[in-house]
Amino acid sequence: MRALICGISGQDGAYLAQLLLEKGYDVVGSSRDAQICNFNNLVRLGIRQKVQLESIALNDFRSVLQVVHRTKPDEIYNLAGQSSVALSFEQPVETLESIMSATINLMEVIRFLGRPIRFYNAGSGECFGDTLGNAADEETPFRPRSPYAVAKAAAFWQVANYREAYGLFACTGILFNHESPLRPERFVTRKIIAAACRIAAGSGERLRLGNTTIQRDWGWAPEYVDAMWRMLQQESAADFVIATGKSHSLADFAEISFRYFGLDWQEYTDIDASIFRPTDIAYGSGDARKALRMSGWSAKTDMSGVIEKMIAEELKSYR
Ligand code: NDP
Repeated sequence: MRALICGISGQDGAYLAQLLLEKGYDVVGSSRDAQICNFNNLVRLGIRQKVQLESIALNDFRSVLQVVHRTKPDEIYNLAGQSSVALSFEQPVETLESIMSATINLMEVIRFLGRPIRFYNAGSGECFGDTLGNAADEETPFRPRSPYAVAKAAAFWQVANYREAYGLFACTGILFNHESPLRPERFVTRKIIAAACRIAAGSGERLRLGNTTIQRDWGWAPEYVDAMWRMLQQESAADFVIATGKSHSLADFAEISFRYFGLDWQEYTDIDASIFRPTDIAYGSGDARKALRMSGWSAKTDMSGVIEKMIAEELKSYR
């Protein structure tokens, strides 16, 4: 089996590549510019030399066609695109275009080539908006509250339409937040972990956070890429919510992270209203029972487990 992972340089791309290599796949990965990308995440996982790397401009049909035609994948995972909710308020057009045009071009290329390529689309639990104390499942309506979520909702419907209209084996994984040491510090979980480790080591810095009352469903990224693979092994294509089912506040996340070092997070943190989002989700949680029923997948690591693993890895990198 051969898989093409678009966005292999990111957190999920690197873990998915590792998983597929373990399963005996040939892995081809794409970046916007494979010549200048440093693929640090692949280097960290020790798999940089085990994957074939290609440049694809996913907003350019010809570029997508050339690489898919030449590499002949059995499965394509599209994990590429602008992935920060916060940045999507600053770059709404880039966010919409990078997510929507990539999804359309990849599915058009699959149609054009007429090969039975299975397609995974990286959807997001952000599409549901505020789940109001409940866990959203595949039947819950979308109420997106950011340009990022609007783009992901549009891509979700593109996939559903191509599946229905042209019989493509195309699935959207509606994944809630999943974290790991490979997250860049722009994402708040890694920002908190990294700051807690440095402060505990005596850096003397202050941690600057936005709204800490928001509640999210945080899982462990390496488990979530396994769910992506399982989706493409089903008999027929369908969409799946992937989540832990448990939601915690950002304040809880910070509290547990600092408590690991015997510190009180509030003594080291400033709340900065200037980084509050124009619209935010107060409560987000997902119900992944369909994934358990159909593919045997369930989350094993809860938020405390995620924090412990991220701290352990952060401290290792200091040494
Ligand atoms: P990352 O941001 O780590 O990786 C995404 C990759 O997409 C980058 O490595 C980059 O590759 C490419 N990319 C970034 N910006 C753009 C852009 N403007 N245009 C085109 N390509 C771009 O994301 P994750 O690995 O965390 O997530 C993978 C996918 O899953 C993303 O689509 C994300 O939105 C989605 N998702 C993630 C969740 C999470 O909690 N991590 C939750 C739900 C959905 P390069 O620079 O090499 O081209």
